[in-house]
Amino acid sequence: EAKSKGRNTYCFYQAEMTAKAQQRLSAERDLRRAIENREFEVWYQPQIDLSTQLFLGAEALVRWRDPTRGLIPPLDFIPLAEQNGMILAIGEQVLHQVCADFSEWRSRQLNAKRLAINVAGPQFYRSDIVATIKRYMDQYQIPHGVLEIEITETFMMENPQEIKEILSKIQQLGVTTAIDDFGTGFSSLAYLRELPIDTLKIDRTFIRDIPSSSKDIAIVRAILALGNSMGFNVVAEGIETQEQRDFLQAEDCREGQGYYFAKPMPKAEFTQWLQNQSDIV
Ligand code: C2E
Ligand code: MG
Ligand code: MG
Ligand code: MG
Repeated sequence: EAKSKGRNTYCFYQAEMTAKAQQRLSAERDLRRAIENREFEVWYQPQIDLSTQLFLGAEALVRWRDPTRGLIPPLDFIPLAEQNGMILAIGEQVLHQVCADFSEWRSRQLNAKRLAINVAGPQFYRSDIVATIKRYMDQYQIPHGVLEIEITETFMMENPQEIKEILSKIQQLGVTTAIDDFGTGFSSLAYLRELPIDTLKIDRTFIRDIPSSSKDIAIVRAILALGNSMGFNVVAEGIETQEQRDFLQAEDCREGQGYYFAKPMPKAEFTQWLQNQSDIV
């Protein structure tokens, strides 16, 4: 009785493992096809100057348009792509698309100003990210000061010396560097002193419960005090309400991004948004 129960459990477990492995295989097959067929879309979320409300630039955020499943958010495929190395091809397609989009907007007299791109750890370690950025900047004649590269603090700590050199080379190309999701990784504050970084992006989990959470208020104040006094450009992510915006502005946070201003939008809609911006000015 107990034996057969144990065996059944074992079989069930094995069947589940097989199903998981199969799911992963088919997810990888789909992702490989998506890379070949260029099924990725870059969406854009505006970044705003909190004191003037003026447009400063946008963050590029990838989505996957699967022909059968529709639009798939990045967190549903980026982690797998990071594990199996497909992020290298996806990341390059994103970089290429952003540069091509900028160039197209410029030819229509639309000024996208600054475009921030998320870059994953493996792109730093397993590809020549500096040469790739340079190649697309040359091809699309991207001026200095337009592109910004966002990296998360967790992977910076894996090999700080190597990262430091790569970040300096990126800056030498006229590309600024940002730490994304700042405050959520496990890393020493010492790297703020050591690494060539221009921008800190305060993670949106610290913004979410403002103004009700006094702890989050304290954390955000501390990040702003540190960031501003060290000369970083500080951007608050995930601003959803007027109250959050007002709080951040009063605390001398100069830049923000979030649903309160605009959600990430597909290229056509963002192009329209840029058009409206240039009509205002
Ligand atoms: P992230 O870089 O921290 O991007 C910000 C995320 O917060 C985006 O989610 C954005 O849509 C969302 N967001 C912005 N404002 C608000 C707000 O007011 N409220 C809430 N609740 N959310 C807001 P998304 O587009 O789903 O991207 C998730 C993550 O996927 C990104 O986090 C980034 O880590 C990763 N990712 C996106 N695109 C790329 C890419 O091209 N390459 C790589 N390597 N990672 C990417
Ligand atoms: Mg980001
Ligand atoms: Mg972020
Ligand atoms: Mg994030």
